[in-house]
Amino acid sequence: MSLIVQKFGGTSVADVEKIRAAARKAIRAQRQGHRVVMVVSAMGKNTDRLLELASDVSENPPAREMDMLLSTGEQVSVALVAMAIEALGSQAISLTGGQIGMQTDSSFSKARIKSISTERIERLLDEGNIVVAAGFQGIDNDLNITTLGRGGSDTTAVALAAVLKADACEIYTDVDGVYTTDPRLLPEARRVDVISYDEMLELASLGASVMHNRSIEFAKKFGVPIHVRSSFSDTEGTMIVAEQESATASVCGAALTPDEARLTVLGVPDVPGKSLEIFAAIAEEKIAVDMVVQNVGDGGKADISFTVQRADLQATLTALQPVVESIGAAGITQDDQVSKISVVGANMVSQPGVASEMFRALAAADVNIQMITTSEIKISALVARDQSSLALRAVHEAFKLHEKPDDSKSWSQIKADRDGVEMQTLVSRLRDDALEALTLTGISVLDDQARVTLSGVPDRPGIAAEVFEKIGAAGISVDMIVQGVDGNEHTTSISFTVDNDQLNQSLSVAKTLVESYGLRGTSGEPGIAKVTVSGIGLRSHTHVATLLFETLAASEINVEMISTSELQVNAVIKSESADQAKQGLEKVFAASLR
Ligand code: ADP
Ligand code: ASP
Ligand code: MG
Repeated sequence: MSLIVQKFGGTSVADVEKIRAAARKAIRAQRQGHRVVMVVSAMGKNTDRLLELASDVSENPPAREMDMLLSTGEQVSVALVAMAIEALGSQAISLTGGQIGMQTDSSFSKARIKSISTERIERLLDEGNIVVAAGFQGIDNDLNITTLGRGGSDTTAVALAAVLKADACEIYTDVDGVYTTDPRLLPEARRVDVISYDEMLELASLGASVMHNRSIEFAKKFGVPIHVRSSFSDTEGTMIVAEQESATASVCGAALTPDEARLTVLGVPDVPGKSLEIFAAIAEEKIAVDMVVQNVGDGGKADISFTVQRADLQATLTALQPVVESIGAAGITQDDQVSKISVVGANMVSQPGVASEMFRALAAADVNIQMITTSEIKISALVARDQSSLALRAVHEAFKLHEKPDDSKSWSQIKADRDGVEMQTLVSRLRDDALEALTLTGISVLDDQARVTLSGVPDRPGIAAEVFEKIGAAGISVDMIVQGVDGNEHTTSISFTVDNDQLNQSLSVAKTLVESYGLRGTSGEPGIAKVTVSGIGLRSHTHVATLLFETLAASEINVEMISTSELQVNAVIKSESADQAKQGLEKVFAASLR
């Protein structure tokens, strides 16, 4: 008998009528012959209300008590949903995270799932129940209640679908699918029929809050197809699967992380191991760092900039205070009025010019770019917070995201193509004790690269666009791009990598730009290599970047540039150290490599 997991988000159980509607959906599925597991979130804005209550009582509530409190929201709704099902004449039973055997680690408020015991759920399903499980919560080894992080009920649902080997995982929410960007921010956003795990994972981690990013890690690892659809209608929504909607469109979606903070550690001695200390201290607090840009300035001192979510700013500063002193850095600057705009697309890796198109769109909207980072699947730009909506609209429009790509495939076409083909999943055997453990797929080196840096780039719109258009027009293909603060208040520096044999040509283009824009200068370095650690969920597994830095520092290898995505962490180093770096990393990550 087939098994369906149906997840209902907060707005989908916000009042009695909606609870009844959710109950009816589950009953209907059961009557159609499925075994049904529901995963339910706290009603409406209940979690927010509980958070407010806590902050009224205490300025700094203990993390354990916070999870104890927040978990009650889901406990209310599962009981009510089960009652509604009974009242409508079917059989149901509600279960807390502990009762479904959802074992997690003890990182309160961002706990990771270790294991789920399925026996009790299966027995209750066999007895004819609709099982109504509380989302977002688990228990640690010591029976403390933990929560998975805001939006975590999606992760509960997909994890349950994975361990129960469900035939379908339906996410019922207040939108009728995944859009090219948040339709609340941009009404012209388009609903997509299909989106790939990789693209959704990246979008979710860059701000598309429709799915909790960690739920997509589960889906990809275990090959769970997810159907995101509306609670309020029966229309088909979006399928999140291994395949992409289009094989040609360079960008599939845009996302905005509105509340970011930029930190710059100034005057860091440019010797191996210093950046490690900075990022290790932050990772220790499980704070995810993004957009890392390091600029080597005069006198062998580097300025290291990165972004964290604004909510993590204070904790980051606290973690950094002692480190700044111990490494002899000059100080920290910060800006908490910034937002991150990103475009995502699995096809961009094979298409030149995507970055310059994005920068041109921002320039045309008169938006200044403060930082840039790119990876194989996304380009992110940091902009002033009050320009973020403008920036999102400009980018969405530039990539024509409101239009369906000509070669777009529907889910039914993809399903037909799948017919008879054995689907590969990343994980064939469930590791019972470490469901959310880090999964790496490879460590590789791209050699024969060169770095080009433009320094003293004035802080005004349009320069990045001009740089990469000129470079593109010269037939030079650029791999990694970073832009960031360069120690001077009104200038930034832009670095990028190209093939070694295109270095001279890149430098001559760069020289023309130095003259026409009055930049401070340009420099190039041949003989560098990019070392890549690939896997899934690399940004939220904060220790990956730390381990990478640690391994390189132990061999006295300096990291010149870094870029991260959910799928890769890349470090640019000198070619001569590439083999040593690869071997070191293979050893360190051996247990996580598959
Ligand atoms: P739930 O309570 O059901 O989990 P959420 O509020 O977490 O619902 O997620 C749904 C919301 O996600 C939508 O109302 C929408 O505003 C927002 N959202 C952000 N990005 C996207 C996107 N790319 N596509 C669809 N919705 C998005
Ligand atoms: N109730 C939790 C939250 O509001 C979990 C969830 O809804 O997914 O974040
Ligand atoms: Mg949600």
